[in-house]
This record gives sequence, C-alpha cells and structure tokens, in this order.
Amino acid sequence: RIVVVGSLNADLTIYCERLPLPGETLHGSGFAINPGGKSANQAVAAGKLGGLVTLIGAVGQDSNAEMLLASTSAAGVDVSHVGRVDVPTGVALISVEASGENSIIISAGANETLSPDAMEPALFADAAVVCLCLEVPLETVQAAAQAGHDAGATVLLNLSPFAAVQEELARLSDILLVNTHEASAFLGGMTMPEPGAPLSEWQPAIEQFASRGLHKVLLTLGSAGSMVLDATNPDAPAIRVAPTKVDAVDTTGAGDAFTGAVAARLASGDTLADAARYASVAAALATTKKGTQAAYPLAHDVSVRLNQ
Ligand code: ADP
Repeated sequence: RIVVVGSLNADLTIYCERLPLPGETLHGSGFAINPGGKSANQAVAAGKLGGLVTLIGAVGQDSNAEMLLASTSAAGVDVSHVGRVDVPTGVALISVEASGENSIIISAGANETLSPDAMEPALFADAAVVCLCLEVPLETVQAAAQAGHDAGATVLLNLSPFAAVQEELARLSDILLVNTHEASAFLGGMTMPEPGAPLSEWQPAIEQFASRGLHKVLLTLGSAGSMVLDATNPDAPAIRVAPTKVDAVDTTGAGDAFTGAVAARLASGDTLADAARYASVAAALATTKKGTQAAYPLAHDVSVRLNQ
C-alpha cells in the first residue's frame, strides 16, 4: 500500500491577455476549476497506474471538497482518511496570461489544519511507501515520516514547494525527490551540473546530499529527463534517465505525475532506477494532454509506450 500524506487544493484558473497590475481590473478570457494540490495529484497518479493508495489530508465542507474527493476516488484512491473540517478547502488562484506566464496565490485553508496527531501508527501499518510533500505543516510531514519509518515503509519526500527542513526529516526520508531549483536550494545554492554533463560531475552533489542524511535522490530535469543519485551504489552512484520524447502541450503537474509513478513502482518492488525509468514515461505522457489529474496516464498507456 502507498500512503500519501498532504494537500488537496482546488485549482481556480483564469485566463487573460496579460496579468493585471496592482489595483487594475481586467476582463479574463476563460475560467476553470480543477482538482489539484500536490498530494492529491500524486495519489491520483499512483492510483491510475494501479497502485493501492490511501490519501491522508483535510478538506472543508464546500463544493471544492466534493470535487476533490470525487476525482481522487475515481482514481481508486481510498479517501476515508481525508478529514472534513470547518475551514475552506485549500485553493490555488491561478492567472495565466497569453504568453503562458502565470501568477499563483495559494490559500492552504483546510490543509493547514492537518495535524501531527492525525498520523496514527495504524494508518501506516501496511504501508510499503509513504509519499510526502511540503504543502501541509512541517511538523505533520515530520510525524508522517516518523510513522512511515517506524512501520518499515520507504519514505519518499518531495521537497516541494521548497522549504528549509529539519535535519531530522531528512534523516527519516529514504528517498528525496526534487527538481533542480529545489536541489540547489536544499544544498545551499550549489549549482547542479548540466543535464548532459559527465556522470562524474554529479559526485559533489551526491556527497552533499549524503552529508545531509540523504543517500538516494531523484532529480527531475523537465524535458531533459531525470537523474538517479545513489550514494549507496558504488558501481553506479549516478544514473541518467533519458527523457521520453513526446509533444508536450501542458507540463503542469508533471512533477506530481513523476512522484506518484515512482511511489507506485517502488511499492510493487521496482529498484529506484527502474521506478525512475517508468515514471519518466508516465510523466511524459501526462504532458501530452491539458490538465493535471485528468491527463495522468493509466498503467495500460505506459505499457503501450514502453513496448513501442
Ligand atoms: P516540476 O514540474 O516539479 O519542476 P519537472 O519539470 O522536472 O518537474 O518534470 C518532472 C518530470 O516530468 C521530468 O523529470 C520528466 O520525466 C517529465 N517531463 C516534464 N516535462 C517533460 C517534457 N516536455 N517531455 C518529456 N518529459 C517531461
């Protein structure tokens, strides 16, 4: 079982010619409400790929909550541990201008109420993988990491949106999943090698991660693919995962598709490198359709692409 702990947000997106200046009112050209939130996305990605997923989170009493519970359940995710609280469901207010540039304001709402006390050990008892991001309070993430660790699960930490985390949380995490911005920020501004750089150039980053208690790191590189950094594998401490070539139309939520796919494959016993290769296909396919959760592929879609 995969236990995903974290956020559910309604993505409220308005499209406009250009983003408004402070104090200015503009007419938009379209509007959509879609299910989102990093953890909900990751849970849906893993569920659609056949993973047995439980989502632990919190939503309000509003219609956004109904939409989020419906879309996660439709992907087969167990939402019986998503609490209903008297605080509005989390919302991301997204403005997208014609150039593609966007501006986003997140109101965490109910996500902020997810407390460490909700991380009951029984919920983690049969977890093979615990999947965490940073859109809920850090002390809750920490408690979930501890509960997952105590249950013998693999703790997968997606350090997004970036925040400085306690050494303790890093130590409890078996695998860190980051993009290059998050990796640099975590390593105090260290520049990551270019995607095509010789594998030996990753050694300093591998050592820096390891010195912070993180021996296994998945680094996503957008259209350039990803890297598997594994300080515990002296034969191949850095493995490059080639990007899957697709015609990308919307890369929103690609990182969450990748994370959910990694969680699903690790839970079925894949090695880290095999999970990353599978996730590379799943995340690439997710970029070929508009939207996030609705664009995530099914296991069958990934198999078809893998067998091509
Ligand atoms: P984030 O959105 O979190 O910054 P990335 O942009 O690194 O994450 O994307 C996550 C993963 O999605 C990448 O490692 C890659 O496997 C896949 N991906 C993203 N964009 C593309 C693309 N244009 N073509 C193919 N794969 C992509």
